[in-house]
Amino acid sequence: MTADSSSPGLGRLDRALASLRGLTVGDALGSQFFVPANYPLLKRRELPAGPWQWTDDTEMACSVVAVLAAHQRLDQDALARSFAEHHDFDRGYGPAVNRLLRLVREGQDWRELAAGLFGGQGSWGNGAAMRIAPLGAWYADDPEQATHQAEISAYPTHQHREAVVGAMAVAAAAALVASPDGPPSPEALLDGVIALVPKSAVGAGLRRARDMLDYGDAVTVAAVLGCGRRTSAHDTVPFALWSAARALADFEAAFWTTAQVGGDVDTTCAIVGGVLASGKAGAPPVEWAQRTEALPDWVPTGL
Ligand SMILES: [Mg+2]
Repeated sequence: MTADSSSPGLGRLDRALASLRGLTVGDALGSQFFVPANYPLLKRRELPAGPWQWTDDTEMACSVVAVLAAHQRLDQDALARSFAEHHDFDRGYGPAVNRLLRLVREGQDWRELAAGLFGGQGSWGNGAAMRIAPLGAWYADDPEQATHQAEISAYPTHQHREAVVGAMAVAAAAALVASPDGPPSPEALLDGVIALVPKSAVGAGLRRARDMLDYGDAVTVAAVLGCGRRTSAHDTVPFALWSAARALADFEAAFWTTAQVGGDVDTTCAIVGGVLASGKAGAPPVEWAQRTEALPDWVPTGL
C-alpha cells in the first residue's frame, strides 16, 4: 500500500482497495457456506475448493470504490447509476433491490423508487452496510466525514433509518481501523463508532455489543445481537462489528468466528472482512485471496 502523504488521493484509493479485497474474500468465502455440502468444512474450519464467487455485497462495494475514485467523494447519482449498470441478477440481491436496479437502468428515478420500498418506509436491509467499509478506509483521516458520506451512500437503495445508520456504523468502524495508529482496543473501537452514530436500534445494538466484548461465546452473543437471520441492519451490524473488534489483527479468526454462528454469512463476513482489511494488520491470508474470484475489470486498480 502507498501511504505517501504528498499524494493523498493515491493513499486513499489504495486503502479503499485493500478494504475491498478483505470484503470480497469475506463475502466470497462466507457465501460458500450456504452450500450444504460445505457445512462440515465450516465446523472444522477448513477451506472449500476455489474459486469462490463473490456476491452482491462485493458488486455494490466495487461501485462505491469506483465512484469515490472518479468523484473524490460519494456522488449519489453516480452511485445509483453504477449500481444499475453493473447489476448482475445472479449475484444474490434481494428481490426489492433487484427490481429497483432494473427500473433505474430503464430510466426511473432512484429517489422515488428507494423511498417507495416497503410501503414507503424504505428498506432496512443490510445492503447499505455490506458495501461501505471501503468508503471508511478512504476517509481514514476523518471518521466524521466517513460517517456523513456513508449516510449519503445509503439512499439510492436503502432509506429506512436503520439501514442508513447501519452503513454509518460500518464506515465509522472502517475509518477508525484505517487510521494510522488504529484503535487501541476493541472497546475503543466500539466506543468510537457509538459516538459517531445517531440514536437508533443499530446504536442500541452497538452498546449491547460493547457490553459483550468479553464474552468468548459468539453463539450466545449472536443470540442476543442477531446475526442477520432477519436480514435487517440492526440484526446484522452490531454482531459484525462485535466480531471485527475482537480480532482486528487476525482475519482468519475473525472470519471463522463470524461464519460459524450462521445467519447472513456472506454479508456478516463481508462487513468483518472489509473493516479488518481497512487496517494494516487485517489483510486476508494470501491463499484465501488467491482462491477468491477476481474483481471485475471496471474497478480502478490504484497504480
Ligand atoms: Mg450477498
